[in-house]
Amino acid sequence: MSHRFGTKAVHAGVEPDPTTGAIMTPIYQTSTYVQAAPGDHKGYEYSRTHNPTRTALQKALATLENGKHGLCFATGMASIDTLAKLLQPGDHVVSTNDLYGGTYRLFTKIYEGFGIRFSFVDMSDPANVAAAITPQTKLIWAETPTNPLLKVIDIAALAVLARKQGCWLAVDNTFASPALQTPLDLGADIVMHSATKYLGGHSDVVLGALVVKDDALHERLAFLQNSSGATPGPMDCFLVLRGIKTLHLRMERHCTNGKAIAEYLLTNPKVERVYWPGLPTHPNHEVAKRQMRGFGGMVSFTLKGDQMADATRVLSNTKLFALAESLGGVESLIGHPASMTHASIPREERLKNGLADTLIRLSVGTEDPEDLIEDLRMAIG
Ligand SMILES: *Cc1c(COP(=O)(O)O)cnc(C)c1O
Repeated sequence: MSHRFGTKAVHAGVEPDPTTGAIMTPIYQTSTYVQAAPGDHKGYEYSRTHNPTRTALQKALATLENGKHGLCFATGMASIDTLAKLLQPGDHVVSTNDLYGGTYRLFTKIYEGFGIRFSFVDMSDPANVAAAITPQTKLIWAETPTNPLLKVIDIAALAVLARKQGCWLAVDNTFASPALQTPLDLGADIVMHSATKYLGGHSDVVLGALVVKDDALHERLAFLQNSSGATPGPMDCFLVLRGIKTLHLRMERHCTNGKAIAEYLLTNPKVERVYWPGLPTHPNHEVAKRQMRGFGGMVSFTLKGDQMADATRVLSNTKLFALAESLGGVESLIGHPASMTHASIPREERLKNGLADTLIRLSVGTEDPEDLIEDLRMAIG
């Protein structure tokens, strides 16, 4: 039976525990499982390979993303690392240039050393992706909306290019979550999540995931998952399962709060530019409307002038918005890419990519919007 998203968020993957009827999936804190006779077991032999709490989460994620198979990992980075092991020396990857810093580091500092080659292009124009594809291209790696400029990449357009090339299209869906965007429906082969963010939603767990439709691709990834061994423990899987039950409710509030904050910022005379895909003036607003069911709670903005000190003053002055890395939790966070997440990129390079010194990134939480606006009004002055 096919249910609507909120119903799936509450019920997906979770069934009453067969032994006790417990409505919540138990935390199966066990490393091994007793066999009746050699090879005679209940589908569980060792917890790196299979664990019932993880199975429930993997099923839940597959359902939410309209996929067939979910695979969970100790962190978001572990899921990308496992996916990258599908590649061989000489293979080429086309990736977005406005990329999560940890993914950029993994690709350039580790996988380039193993003979994999990467092109980083502005994917908000699919023509740039088409131009970067070579006969060796095995993977297109997209992330949308991007971090921190919130560009929106046309997933369906990239899927057409991937089909033509015969390569995989993988989409990092962390910023949107399956409540707002389901890339497999748009033709992607693999969806990746840092469940640390919106899926978990409470800033209390680090976990990663991949979701696919194809059985053969799932088999290869499950082999890599078990062989490389970066699997999450059952307690962490339980926390994400619990987070998912309110995903639809939280995302609704993140979206309305994101809108309220973006619209407030537009009226503040000290603000130069506001980045939020829901604004009709956003350069990719039409694509966002087509492929997203809401525009999310990530909002970036720049201040007038070019003084880094003006931005850092705002960051030290907020009381509700907490100065921290990460995103996607119920509590609002504020960050300064130039001195935090993107500090390792040389200043010239940052400016070239549109990352001004006064750029501030907000992960708008689920508090009352009036209080959040009041906090920003006071901090920006
Ligand atoms: C946080 C994040 C990651 C990495 O996930 P971890 O759980 O921190 O390892 C990857 N992509 C995006 C977009 C993220 O925000």
